[in-house]
Amino acid sequence: MPEKVVIIGSGPAGWTAAIYAARANLQPLVFEGAITEENQIKGTLPLGQLNLTTEVENYPGFPEGDSREYLRTALPPAVQPYLAQANKPQPSPGINGPELMALMRQQAINFGTRVITEDILRVDLQRYPFILVPSDTADQAERPPVEALTVIIATGARANYLGLPSEDQFKNRGVSACAVCDGALPRFRNKPLVVVGGGDSAVEEATYLTKFASQVYMVHRRDELRASKIMQGRALANPKITMKWNRALQEVLGNESDGVTGARLASTVDKETEEVASSGVFLAIGHTPNTDFLRGQVELDKAGYIRWTVPQRTYTSVEGVFAAGDVADSYYRQAVTAAGTGCMAALDAERWLAARGEH
Ligand code: NAP
Repeated sequence: MPEKVVIIGSGPAGWTAAIYAARANLQPLVFEGAITEENQIKGTLPLGQLNLTTEVENYPGFPEGDSREYLRTALPPAVQPYLAQANKPQPSPGINGPELMALMRQQAINFGTRVITEDILRVDLQRYPFILVPSDTADQAERPPVEALTVIIATGARANYLGLPSEDQFKNRGVSACAVCDGALPRFRNKPLVVVGGGDSAVEEATYLTKFASQVYMVHRRDELRASKIMQGRALANPKITMKWNRALQEVLGNESDGVTGARLASTVDKETEEVASSGVFLAIGHTPNTDFLRGQVELDKAGYIRWTVPQRTYTSVEGVFAAGDVADSYYRQAVTAAGTGCMAALDAERWLAARGEH
């Protein structure tokens, strides 16, 4: 028997789709991704980008407070060792990313969602029912193909990093790829900060960070921003933003106890280097959608994001295949918008099946 709904991906979009699909009696099956070294390096482990962040202060419903007591009752004991923050001796403020994702996952499971901790390696969406081929990490092989009447793709996107060892060393201790998520944390307040990039995201992040930072250095590899003129104007007029033109981030500087303390910048036009003091380094050099396994199967835009084909719907170019979250959204990229489109995708899938008499 084909599955009624298969959801690929396990960020806020995937779990919200699963919660709605499960409550509609569609018995969803979620492929949450495989736990492999390759996925760790790429930033595509299960539970998505939120699982790689610390505090989440902008997801509605989790105001500041000690979340540990709630987590103890909401999550089975087996999950709790994974929640490093939950076991910290001091109260955690509100919720952090891994906790929020563990709660969403559990909520989906509570309503009957089945979860397989593997990737989908490739799909055949030209056949119906659709064919999905999962990985089998234990045997380093492939599992038997799964047939599906509808598919919700919620594989998200990953932030681009430069690939410096020092970036890895200080991730979550001053190195971030999301100013909106992390900018207001105490470690960044009233301190100089570095933003790398020259697009709209970099300008937006730099401008946003001036609310907290004493000064923001924008490090861009050319002498001209890619960002739209209006955004450029805003950044260039901001007295707290200092442009570091023709510079590349060479190394994030820091130590074990303080995390990030500065950045070494190298000129892109001569051999000069300089060091700036900074308590944070924000990478804003674009994102890459996780759509490699879909090439040729569903319409993507030129950056590789899935194209939504009908306004206000999560429809893709293949009927019966829906997309939710960052995999189809290079613009908002927030947990709450991903969750919203996850809900939409489940409702779209349910109605599509109902219209065909399958549900
Ligand atoms: P983007 O437009 O692709 O810009 C990426 C920036 O990072 C570019 O300035 C690029 O430099 C730089 N970069 C890329 N790889 C690099 C590397 N290896 N080393 C150093 N620098 C590197 O990406 P984005 O800013 O994330 O924007 C994505 C999309 O979302 C765009 O369409 C944007 O307009 C939109 N967006 C809109 C808003 C808004 O309107 N409020 C806000 C955010 C994003 P070069 O310029 O030299 O290539």
